[in-house]
Amino acid sequence: MAEHVAIIGSGPAGWTAAIYAARASLKPILFEGAVTEENRLQGTMPLGQLALTTEVENYPGFPAGDLSGFLASSLSEEHRWLVDMHQKEGCSGPELMHLMRQQATNFGTRVVTDDIVEVDFDAHPFRLRSLGGQEVEAHSVIISTGARANYLGLDSEERFKNNGVSACAVCDGALPRFRDKPLVVVGGGDSAVEEADYLSKFGSTVYLVHRRDALRASKIMAQRAEDNPKIDIQWNSVLEEILGSDEAGVTGVRLKSTVDDSTRELEATGAFMAIGHTPNTLFLNGKLAMTEKKYLKWTVPFRTNTSVEGVFAAGDVADDYYRQAVTAAGSGCMAALDAERWLAAKGL
Ligand SMILES: Cc1cc2nc3c(=O)[nH]c(=O)nc-3n(C[C@H](O)[C@H](O)[C@H](O)COP(=O)(O)OP(=O)(O)OC[C@H]3O[C@@H](n4cnc5c(N)ncnc54)[C@H](O)[C@@H]3O)c2cc1C
Repeated sequence: MAEHVAIIGSGPAGWTAAIYAARASLKPILFEGAVTEENRLQGTMPLGQLALTTEVENYPGFPAGDLSGFLASSLSEEHRWLVDMHQKEGCSGPELMHLMRQQATNFGTRVVTDDIVEVDFDAHPFRLRSLGGQEVEAHSVIISTGARANYLGLDSEERFKNNGVSACAVCDGALPRFRDKPLVVVGGGDSAVEEADYLSKFGSTVYLVHRRDALRASKIMAQRAEDNPKIDIQWNSVLEEILGSDEAGVTGVRLKSTVDDSTRELEATGAFMAIGHTPNTLFLNGKLAMTEKKYLKWTVPFRTNTSVEGVFAAGDVADDYYRQAVTAAGSGCMAALDAERWLAAKGL
């Protein structure tokens, strides 16, 4: 028998959609992704991007404080190990994601730890196939597979993630280690300038490292970078290495000139990668309308509809603008309500 709703993806958008769909008696099935080496390497393991970070200071309802008692009473036996790891400083990304997952399963969401690798939206009910070969039919589908930040691919980047290396200024810029210290942003587009501008509120100097002698950013954004006295643009340069130690985290970077092969070092406590994101939409094989950058298109203003009736999208997979946990969760709620109303209108 076909499912009412199948949800693909396990970040804040997917779990929120599941909580709403489950409470509306739609008995959702959620594919949370597979535990594979490929997913680990590209940062798309179950529980999504937030599970890759330490403190989450901006998710409403989770101020700094000792959550041990709450975690112990909320999580199932299987996930109590998180209580022992709790840092008593507020909520960590993995804690928040496990709490969301728990809330969704409390209401009866069935979770499958596997990737969806193929979809058929031509026939109705829709058909989905997982990596492990499971086939599911569903009257409606919510796609919440998120996006992943692009990194340069340096070993030192991997080593200092959560210890000075970040791909999100809004998420991490206000952390104490970045305050009144020199910071580095890599990139030359609009989002790199935005990140540098945002970080200039916290850092003493923000070095914007760009491989060419002119920014790719729009004129107005490029001007904003040049007018900001705290932004120091390092033209014709690429980041060759991130420097630091396990105790101190990032302490600096080594840049290489793109003009003459010379290198130089800069002191910095943070290195922010602003070289774009990749939405997790490859498995859709072009079966839904996408933007030039392969994000899903929302086709009705203020709704989560996609180009196929009955298929909805939520979170970073369709949103390359806000990219926050709370906005992803918000659109997950919208997608569940949109799916519920669509199913009701069809009598399904
Ligand atoms: C290091 C870091 C720190 C961050 N810190 C913050 C912060 O402090 N505050 C904040 O608000 N935001 C933060 N963000 C941004 C935030 O994590 C994202 O905006 C949010 O997680 C997006 O949620 P999502 O539900 O759209 O998808 P994601 O979190 O991207 O999760 C989607 C998940 O779905 C699964 N999936 C993908 N493809 C498939 C498939 N084919 N089949 C099955 N499953 C699949 C994968 O497990 C994937 O990870 C941070 C991001 C990063 C990378």
